[in-house]
Amino acid sequence: MSDKMKAYIDEAESALLHTYNRYQVVLDRGEGVYLYDMDGREYLDFVSGIAVFALGYNNQEYNDALKAQIDKVIHTSNYYYNVPAIEAAKKLKEISGMDRVFFTNSGAEAVEGAIKAARKYAYNKDGSTDHEIIAMNHSFHGRTMGALSVTGNPHYREAFEPLIGNIKFADMNDLESVKAQITDKTCAIMFETVQGEGGIYPATREFMEGVRAICDEKDILLILDEIQCGMGRTGYMYAWQKYGVKPDIMTTAKALGCGVPVGAFLLNEKVGKASLVAGDHGTTYGGNPLACAAICKVIELFEKEHILENVQTVSVYLEEKLDCLAAEYDEIETRRGAGLMQGLVFKKPVGEIITRALDAGLILINAGTNIIRFVPPLIISKKDVDDMIDILRKCL
Ligand SMILES: *Cc1c(COP(=O)(O)O)cnc(C)c1O
Repeated sequence: MSDKMKAYIDEAESALLHTYNRYQVVLDRGEGVYLYDMDGREYLDFVSGIAVFALGYNNQEYNDALKAQIDKVIHTSNYYYNVPAIEAAKKLKEISGMDRVFFTNSGAEAVEGAIKAARKYAYNKDGSTDHEIIAMNHSFHGRTMGALSVTGNPHYREAFEPLIGNIKFADMNDLESVKAQITDKTCAIMFETVQGEGGIYPATREFMEGVRAICDEKDILLILDEIQCGMGRTGYMYAWQKYGVKPDIMTTAKALGCGVPVGAFLLNEKVGKASLVAGDHGTTYGGNPLACAAICKVIELFEKEHILENVQTVSVYLEEKLDCLAAEYDEIETRRGAGLMQGLVFKKPVGEIITRALDAGLILINAGTNIIRFVPPLIISKKDVDDMIDILRKCL
């Protein structure tokens, strides 16, 4: 490592609040599926900023769209209309089949909005303020107080208690455990269609259909968090589309802006017309023209560059290759995931392998201590998969 890069890392450790144990690299620029550090070293990137940069780095058309918007106007206010936000909302409705859109600045804020919409819907029905939400163990919904309240990981939550109340936890893919938590106060059931941080667990069809049926029967709202698994990652625009099980409320972020910080929560018409109204919710930045110009171009490029088709083909290849590794190495327990959101489950912590991979020019990340997570840019080719496997093999 150059002295210059080392100096920046030292500076970072004295200036930034130490909320991350960072890898010892200063990333400087990107091109396609590659990132480059300050010293010009190349890294094959199988993280894409944690499921964010779906289109690959330095996509010219995306960059040009942002530059054009910067030259027009970056921010106005939600008290006025702006064309990018209107067009982004229209496109988001088209790809999701949902009916109402609220733009946020992050995933966590989308989760906050989803919780508020569910509570308001229930409040409008009976005027009471003691409604309950059922979330899942091992879930991850973000770091703000509301999102943390529905995050099923005691380690993330404990020091920040008391969080918002009336949250119950059930087990993902265990319908009986969900039923056991339901009371006449339950207003929503929420989970990630594919659990990300918690260990890459896709929902089973039985669970999706079972929860939807319970929700329909009792007028409970189904909230799906598609922040990580959405935007094409599983080969569908939204992961729930594979199951044909539609949520009442959904959240989206990460790849939505492909690097511009933006998220959204979306409602169906039933919730849209009987929950949040003027004065109930707001945001200064959310849905500003720059962020929404990014969304518009991202959705446009998804179609133009046949992103879903690429995910569907390359992910089959990636699964095959990871399954081979799992069969070959004793220390690997199994592979699981959906599309280009895969986890290789080890019998031991994976931190050391990830550090070794970085040294060898491959960026990987964990999910929990024992799982290597693969969430590459959605434009990767079979050749990129081969290159990744070659490097990973050397690190095992
Ligand atoms: C990343 C993530 C969030 C939080 O998003 P932020 O933009 O970091 O606030 C919420 N839910 C899921 C499933 C995520 O993966």
